[in-house]
Amino acid sequence: MRWKQQLLTLNPYQPGKSIDEVKKQYRLKEIVKLASNENPYGCSERVLGTLEQSTGFFALYPDGYATNLRETLATHLDVFPNQIIFGNGSDEIIQIISRSLLHPGANTVMAAPTFPQYKHNAIIEGAEVREIPLKNGNHDLDEMLAAIDGQTNAVWLCSPNNPTGTYIPEDQLIAFLDRVPKDVLVVLDEAYFEYVVADDYYDSVELLTRYENLIVLRTFSKIYGLASLRIGYGIASQAIIRAIEPAREPFNVNRFALLAAEAALGDQAYVNECRQKNRQGLDQFYRYCDINNLDYYPSQGNFILIDFQVDGNEVFQFLLEKGFIVRSGPALGFPTSIRVTVGSREQNEKLLGAISEFLAAKAALS
Ligand SMILES: *Cc1c(COP(=O)(O)O)cnc(C)c1O
Repeated sequence: MRWKQQLLTLNPYQPGKSIDEVKKQYRLKEIVKLASNENPYGCSERVLGTLEQSTGFFALYPDGYATNLRETLATHLDVFPNQIIFGNGSDEIIQIISRSLLHPGANTVMAAPTFPQYKHNAIIEGAEVREIPLKNGNHDLDEMLAAIDGQTNAVWLCSPNNPTGTYIPEDQLIAFLDRVPKDVLVVLDEAYFEYVVADDYYDSVELLTRYENLIVLRTFSKIYGLASLRIGYGIASQAIIRAIEPAREPFNVNRFALLAAEAALGDQAYVNECRQKNRQGLDQFYRYCDINNLDYYPSQGNFILIDFQVDGNEVFQFLLEKGFIVRSGPALGFPTSIRVTVGSREQNEKLLGAISEFLAAKAALS
């Protein structure tokens, strides 16, 4: 078979270990999974109520235009309905943008480490990937600008950035957008937007009125607690949405996701509550790290990257055998770190207890 050569260089996505798998393998009764930045409190109860009421008739295709959700979201964001594109998770929007803009001969610019799907999709499309190392955990926007040339079709910004939790301050983002050529699409991935509390964070939807080469990505998978239903969206000028819509599959978002997302949007009190609890959870981690001399990046997301100054896989494995699933740093580009999703207060306390056991075991050896 004549596969695209670049496919042979890629590995399929490696999902974190499942709860059942870990239970069985280590004969554990209880597992705490803080690996994929899911909402530890689940979704709003309004979503559950809505889904229970929806009928069990599955023969019809879902609404391919997401009409009801589109109206609700457009009102919520104060944009026109045709400024939105929905995806089977924002992962699919990343794929749609890549299909629409990237090809052999084109290049695309992104930070490193950042969310791996930008690079993965660019490679499949045969585009050249220009990765600009983070500077102290932050996007190096000057170097990213310098990497743009006449063949650059898209630039990826992740803010808050996964896996560091760092964000781009408003003044820096605006200075960057002012200098990016108008025919280069800037993709601003805000998967953790609803968790942000920083004062100098920007209003990306407002920026869309000033920068016609900008698309903002958001998702219902993180704070809205709907990861298993797969729904995310992009917001941009009508011209950009019009250009990429043909690359979207007709019925890419299922009926339950559409209903759930609409109900979830209607409960902003729940979102606010989750944001507040997340800050309290982050404070638990900050305090612990400060006391124990562990380095970390202050986070605007619902996760924290903690540096242990030893092989991150070792920390990961130790925690796994105690029933805690986290993300190992080496796979994310941080060899001596782990990335932990902020859980409930109790989950965080238990995890920090296990981390203390790790640190004590290490200290006893040295
Ligand atoms: C989780 C995540 C996504 C993907 O979210 P889905 O909507 O579930 O596909 C996109 N970007 C970043 C940075 C993420 O962390």
